[in-house]
Amino acid sequence: MPEADSERARVLTEVIYDEIFLSHQTTPGHPENSKRLEAILEGITTSGLKDKLLWARPSEADVEVIALVHSQEYIAKVASLSAAKKLVHLDPDTVVSEKTFQCARYAVGGVLQGLQDMANGRCENGFALVRPPGHHARKASGMGFCIFNNAAVGAEYAIREMGWKQVVIIDWDAHHGNGVQEIFYDRDDVLYISLHQYPHYPGTGYFTEVGEGRGEGFTINLPFGPGSGDSEYLLALEKIILPIATQFDPQLVLVCAGYDGHRDDPLSALDLSTDVFNKMAGRVKDLAQICCEGRLLVVLEGGYGLDSLSDSVVATLRALVEPATDTLKKGKKEPSELPEASSSSEEMVEKLKNYFARYWKI
Ligand SMILES: [Zn+2]
Repeated sequence: MPEADSERARVLTEVIYDEIFLSHQTTPGHPENSKRLEAILEGITTSGLKDKLLWARPSEADVEVIALVHSQEYIAKVASLSAAKKLVHLDPDTVVSEKTFQCARYAVGGVLQGLQDMANGRCENGFALVRPPGHHARKASGMGFCIFNNAAVGAEYAIREMGWKQVVIIDWDAHHGNGVQEIFYDRDDVLYISLHQYPHYPGTGYFTEVGEGRGEGFTINLPFGPGSGDSEYLLALEKIILPIATQFDPQLVLVCAGYDGHRDDPLSALDLSTDVFNKMAGRVKDLAQICCEGRLLVVLEGGYGLDSLSDSVVATLRALVEPATDTLKKGKKEPSELPEASSSSEEMVEKLKNYFARYWKI
């Protein structure tokens, strides 16, 4: 018994990675390239975290599974463009190369691997260290560096194949995850919550975009102006995201984890620190422990400053492997220490909170 208890108390965090993820080629000088993953792996090694993590290799996702979210025509288009063995643009930012179809199938497979390993008890939570990223990918088109919507396929698979009825997707990439939003816009079993710079690429994500039909109120957009940073994000997390997500009571927590909101990243004007990713991951982990036995899968999205990306992923992983905090237990939902915030950021978060109070008891 004591042995079983101590086994249960350990947090087992799995990182899903394969060298195949280096094979998706983009144009010379493109910010989304294989050096991103190499920098992250280097950071994990030098941080001393490598041996504290479980490592897993994914399988290639079946086309039928990808078709849970994407049209057959679009999947076939990516396959045939890859078969042409040259770089072809899907949009001005998004290219398909010879290995893209295979790599993108493995990226989806990385998410599925994490879900399966949480279900079979191999790990409690996980980080899918995959590329190409996914959250901009729409049902019938790729865009914004994204080919297949890794997290969205994961959410759909979790509901249909794993029997986890409700999934929350928390998206902290600097850009709005228009693809995830579109895919689940009329659904009440997937709660999509995004914090992002606004206005910014891809142009969507204003707070009045709330879902439609049964899905109304199950899309929560938290847009922040350039220069917003840790205090806005942590306030929004404590006052809006965690209370809503706890009420939703998911059976799986997914994170679209982009690190391009870091103050040193070239692709946004947000002012997030490395440490805020540790704090956010820790609180999202608390949410998973309250609602769904700790089931939390973090999925890599953007992040283009190699040092800030690597440091921020390590900060996230540190939170995942740490023993649970006691700050947010069922029936005891006081927020953890709130950040010092300027009155303007408090006002902004309060305004958003008041808006979403029409859908949720917050
Ligand atoms: Zn991004």
